[in-house]
Amino acid sequence: MLPGVSTLGAPLTRALGPKTAKALAAAFGMGTVGDLLRHYPRRYYTRGELTDLSSLREGDHVTVLARVEHVGLHQMYGKGPSAGRAEVIITDDRAKLVLTFFFRNRGGQYIIKPLVPGMVGMFAGTVSRFRTRLQLVHPEYEMLPGAPPNADLTPELAAEFAAEMIPVYPASAKASSWMIARAVRTVLDPLDAGEDPLPAELRERHGLTGRAEAIRAIHRPLDQADLKRARERLKWDEAFLLQAALAQRRLAAAAMPAMPRPHVDGGIAGEFDARLPFTLTAGQVAVGETIAEELACAYPMHRLLQGEVGSGKTVIAIRAMLQVVDAGGQAALLAPTEVLAQQHYRSVTAMLGPLAQAGQLGAAEHATGAALLTGSVGAAARRSALSDVFTGDAGIVIGTHALLEEQVQFSDLGLVVIDEQHRFGVEQRDALRAKAADNRPHVLVMTATPIPRTVAMTVYGDLETSTLTELPAGRSAIATHVVPAADKPHFLERAWERVREEVTKGRQAYVVCPRIGDGPETDDDGEYPGEDDFGSVDMTGGIPRGIGEAGRRQPLAVLDVAATLDAGPLAGLRLGILHGRLHPEEKDRVMREFSAGAIDVLVATTVVEVGVDVPNATVMVIMDAERFGVSQLHQLRGRVGRGSAPGLCLLVTEAQPDTPSRQRLAAVAATLDGFKLSRLDLEQRREGDVLGAAQAGRHSSLRLLRLLADEDLIGLAREEATTLVSTDPQLASTRPSPGSPRTPSSYPCKL
Ligand code: ADP
Ligand code: MG
Repeated sequence: MLPGVSTLGAPLTRALGPKTAKALAAAFGMGTVGDLLRHYPRRYYTRGELTDLSSLREGDHVTVLARVEHVGLHQMYGKGPSAGRAEVIITDDRAKLVLTFFFRNRGGQYIIKPLVPGMVGMFAGTVSRFRTRLQLVHPEYEMLPGAPPNADLTPELAAEFAAEMIPVYPASAKASSWMIARAVRTVLDPLDAGEDPLPAELRERHGLTGRAEAIRAIHRPLDQADLKRARERLKWDEAFLLQAALAQRRLAAAAMPAMPRPHVDGGIAGEFDARLPFTLTAGQVAVGETIAEELACAYPMHRLLQGEVGSGKTVIAIRAMLQVVDAGGQAALLAPTEVLAQQHYRSVTAMLGPLAQAGQLGAAEHATGAALLTGSVGAAARRSALSDVFTGDAGIVIGTHALLEEQVQFSDLGLVVIDEQHRFGVEQRDALRAKAADNRPHVLVMTATPIPRTVAMTVYGDLETSTLTELPAGRSAIATHVVPAADKPHFLERAWERVREEVTKGRQAYVVCPRIGDGPETDDDGEYPGEDDFGSVDMTGGIPRGIGEAGRRQPLAVLDVAATLDAGPLAGLRLGILHGRLHPEEKDRVMREFSAGAIDVLVATTVVEVGVDVPNATVMVIMDAERFGVSQLHQLRGRVGRGSAPGLCLLVTEAQPDTPSRQRLAAVAATLDGFKLSRLDLEQRREGDVLGAAQAGRHSSLRLLRLLADEDLIGLAREEATTLVSTDPQLASTRPSPGSPRTPSSYPCKL
């Protein structure tokens, strides 16, 4: 090993030599000492506490801590005079496990030489079965230093004895846990961790250890308490750095000028309010006021509005859009799907009536124009829409990702609204935002996938959040039931009867399947490069899919299920089909027919997941329900019970009782509380999925931090980071310098 001090930024080739560095780079993509030191142990063995060998299962790749009990040598006939087999029994003092080594000649026996009965070691390999016994064949192993007779107690050996806890690292075939442990030890001893990124005064306030100490302790903890302190401190690093970056973004955004778009008396907005056929809920009023104030500020609003399906977010968005139009600007609404964009356009123009018919006969005095831009708008209509957007005649512009195209140029874009934010990435949000000329537009993003505050703070940390918690009065309840199709087949028959009954009453139904059933077998529509579902990053998907409980058959497909229903249980009813691979015009036609009641039962993929609003639909049957995520199921069932009649959602599954899948479905059936469900959803996912889905791995640096479990810590880190960044925007010093000109209070509106 090369001597000398190593820093976190030092390349591993220098610190460890090319061979080890290459192996670590290949296995984990590590390049620097810092990368290696952020590869934290997966768990720790406590000396004297052996692995429970009875818990091993065939096929598992395991690293176990056990004691050698017996070494037996056996001759192997017919393979040469000295060919043999060693059978080593290891034990946790209760159960036993066999290690098998083969060798061709006596020299081959060297591999088992260190395996001395009574010594403890770590053994790694894949558990296989030979006759009735579990075994590891040719495991890798490393013996822990026992008390070798007459050994010189070198300081190194002494340190080894002192360590109560032995780290076990995430390993791979090419880089074993102990190879990593050795590499860590090599860089750890001469490490200069550099300046602590957390100010001393902050560390003191929160009782945190120094970083260098924490890095040492997470790899080589003295005891549990030592480890706990280390983890706490390193979590703080992650939370603080993340929140500081987000605070910097907020500050940078706030430093950009925006055109204030204050409320104007006697404009369209006021008239719109007067025409509303219902009273706004208290929540809608409160959020509306916040937004109205922020739009009047000289820096851009960045607000996330979350609220249950049907909580009435759209009306809030329209009111904000009209305030901007009244103030002379334009407002754009970006929807994730063609179906949804059209639905928004229809309802906006209907609600505005003559207020949105500028230039037409009978238009109101202050009227504006509304334009629709989607992939399937015809060439002539598109030209005229583009021109209206360009001249500013269209104050309200609604569309899908077609809005993001280069040809779409605004006269004076003042507000960007993004519906169902969880379907979009940040890039799309930024692309639309970039269309405002000199000034940055105000931004309102909306989501019906409510997420806990810490997650919102972290995933959408550069946004302030508002939440609508109540539904407008007069909503019907949705009853949800699990239909166990495997153990109780007649329940499924009953489900189809229920669908028939509803149709007989003049109602409509959805049947949702995980797969389309033509062409490439994906279980969603993600492969279709067309209009809907484009590059959709779905915060609600990606859940453990069935985990092998529903057997190995293909997930049910729209086309197959529709054919089966048409020929059997639902014969005679008017069935329609909707999925992402249909042509956009076909999709629109099907949706319009369904809305008009010309289709009784719509068999669809999750394209109906967001925003679809057909109040006459009262039943939804979800096939292979265990294949959908918790939040996704919740979103889906939000399609029924939107009118005055109660909704019914049936979750059909072949998952066995008492499996995690069934428990998830039972949880969905048991509550309509979206926040509760989204917590449940998040708990079952790795943080990387959550963050990665939302922001394409921008924060992949999170190793220890758990968004739900560490809520309190994240909240504290956010406060600290915000304070620090407000006084030291560049984080030039780790100590806050008083008297910086850019304190929040120097802005015209509160931050
Ligand atoms: P979401 O939050 O899911 O986007 P919408 O904005 O689509 O919900 O609202 C769902 C339905 O509720 C719409 O038909 C809308 O007109 C209606 N709505 C919105 N606010 C109210 C209210 N305060 N009272 C009654 N109905 C409302
Ligand atoms: Mg909506």
